[in-house]
Amino acid sequence: MRRSVLVRFLGLSLAVALGAVIATALIATYSTSEKLQGEMDANTGQLQVDGEIYSQLSRYASDHPSWSGVDKLVHDLAGKLGRRVAVTTDDGSVIADSARMLGAAPQLPSVPAATIDARNVAVSKLAGAMNVYSARKTIAAGEPGGFVATAALIAPYGGYPGWGMTEEETRQRDQLARQSMNCYNAKGKAATVIQAGGGVPQVMIESKESLAGVQVKASALAKDECTPPGLNAPSAKAKIVNDDEIRRAAGCLDAAGLTYNINEFEGLKAVEPKTEGDAGEAFDNCATQARVQALTPYVAPPAKLYLGAKSTFNVFSGEGLLRTAATALGVLLIAALVMIFAGRRLVRPIVALTGAAQRMRNGDHAARVPVSGKDEVARLGHAFNDMAESIQRHDFQRKAMVSDVAHELRTPLANIKGYLVASEDGVVPLDSELVTSLLEETDLLEHLVADLQDLALADAGMLRLHPAPRDLTELAQQVVAAHRPTADAADVTVTAVGEPSAATVDSARIRQALGNLVSNAIRYTPPGGTVVVGVRRVGDGYTVSVTDNGTGIAEEHLPYVFDRFYRAEHSRSRSTGGSGLGLAITKHLAEAHGGTIAVTSRLGSGSTFTIWLPAAATLSG
Ligand code: ADP
Repeated sequence: MRRSVLVRFLGLSLAVALGAVIATALIATYSTSEKLQGEMDANTGQLQVDGEIYSQLSRYASDHPSWSGVDKLVHDLAGKLGRRVAVTTDDGSVIADSARMLGAAPQLPSVPAATIDARNVAVSKLAGAMNVYSARKTIAAGEPGGFVATAALIAPYGGYPGWGMTEEETRQRDQLARQSMNCYNAKGKAATVIQAGGGVPQVMIESKESLAGVQVKASALAKDECTPPGLNAPSAKAKIVNDDEIRRAAGCLDAAGLTYNINEFEGLKAVEPKTEGDAGEAFDNCATQARVQALTPYVAPPAKLYLGAKSTFNVFSGEGLLRTAATALGVLLIAALVMIFAGRRLVRPIVALTGAAQRMRNGDHAARVPVSGKDEVARLGHAFNDMAESIQRHDFQRKAMVSDVAHELRTPLANIKGYLVASEDGVVPLDSELVTSLLEETDLLEHLVADLQDLALADAGMLRLHPAPRDLTELAQQVVAAHRPTADAADVTVTAVGEPSAATVDSARIRQALGNLVSNAIRYTPPGGTVVVGVRRVGDGYTVSVTDNGTGIAEEHLPYVFDRFYRAEHSRSRSTGGSGLGLAITKHLAEAHGGTIAVTSRLGSGSTFTIWLPAAATLSG
């Protein structure tokens, strides 16, 4: 599979982005869901749990003169019931908060769930002085609500029966309850000792009075021989509070000019309006106020109860920031690790490339990089290796060429020097023959230099052509005519054949190319041989072929005849007068015209060099 660097980068970026998005989403979901949970908690359910919290804290308030030390209970309740529990004073300063961490806590809900006031507990409508009065009336009427009224009756202070009871009092109460139970049992009535509110021992008897079946009623109602005195009595502390309350109530009522009776029921006193006219708000106010004042020294002051979700995650809270920072750090760490791992794998081939390039610069042209895979970096590696290969080849060719050029120049120069030295020494007279020889050698040098210049221009891509519409057959005939003297001297027949063939070419360059081929053909053809230059239409171009029936070229030399300084027969180099550059230049010229050159040859039978040229224009005129 081809894994491109781009795809890998994309994958990497996506992985990092995905990590960041997941982390962000997690934080957002977490905080939102907690908020939602909080709202759901506020809206639905939790009533039972909240009721339990309320009653336990109310009980605490009833049993303690202050809130100090409520912290443990608040945390216990929060832990056990899975709620955030906070208690504040009436004016809002926090007494205890289960969500408080390191001194900071999330904001409290805007509205308190309840007010806890042990001096005026929720059952106050039933309990206390006023209610002894109403309870008595209920009991007297024999109404079924009597049990409730009685429960309230024996729970006048702190909201539960037996408030303020000492251990000793509880023990005594237990004995009385057992005594009562035994008494009922002896009479064949089913009765049990139960722990009433606040852990106060009480007797429960079963009665079949109700049509609805078995109904449980407290013995408190029964005023029979099985009810020992003191079974329903309040604690000593309750009695003190009750006395204080009645005293205060009486004072208030007197001041208000209201008349009242003080009744006693089960050890507790209650004020009761003497006449219907005394009953009313003013009476109730006196009674309530007296009760509150009497209870104040014994119970905790009123407080507000706030309930909420266990922990409200707030991104900007200390905990929220910590969690967000930790998540961000985690994501960063993972991203960094992934980047380091992937980056190293990615960079490794680039480092290898850099090393190879430096070795190249230092002259080690054999430097290559190991390439694996098919990605962009691998392709870069391949490209580098190709480039190094090419540089190495060109460097080799350059060195070979310089050495060849030196070698080619040395021979004619050595000849010239030899002739001149011989003449100077008087060995050879400086006659016209010597001058002719000298001219031949300088011609050779001139040709060589001209050929080298053509090749250098071709190599540099600066071989300028001046194309014009020409007849190729005519050009071929001109070349043949120019070489006729040489051919005649060598006893070789040269002819040009072909129809008028219009092509857009640089005539001088084409003549040069054909001249090289024709002079080679004459040179390598023995006397009596023939050389034919033929022009033919082939496809959308022309072929100009030079065929001889000369020596031919051995098969193993054929692939190299167009190389510079290549000679099929090295020994003949000088005698035949060739520099080994002619075919190389001819090939360049053909290609510069957008054409090609090819050779077919058989040793001993002759050779055919064929140039193909495109016919770019029609001959006009
Ligand atoms: P040179 O100047 O030596 O002729 P060329 O590049 O023109 O250089 O030719 C390269 C070599 O190809 C020659 O040395 C010769 O061996 C061979 N060659 C070229 N043309 C012919 C031909 N017509 N017949 C036989 N051999 C040829």
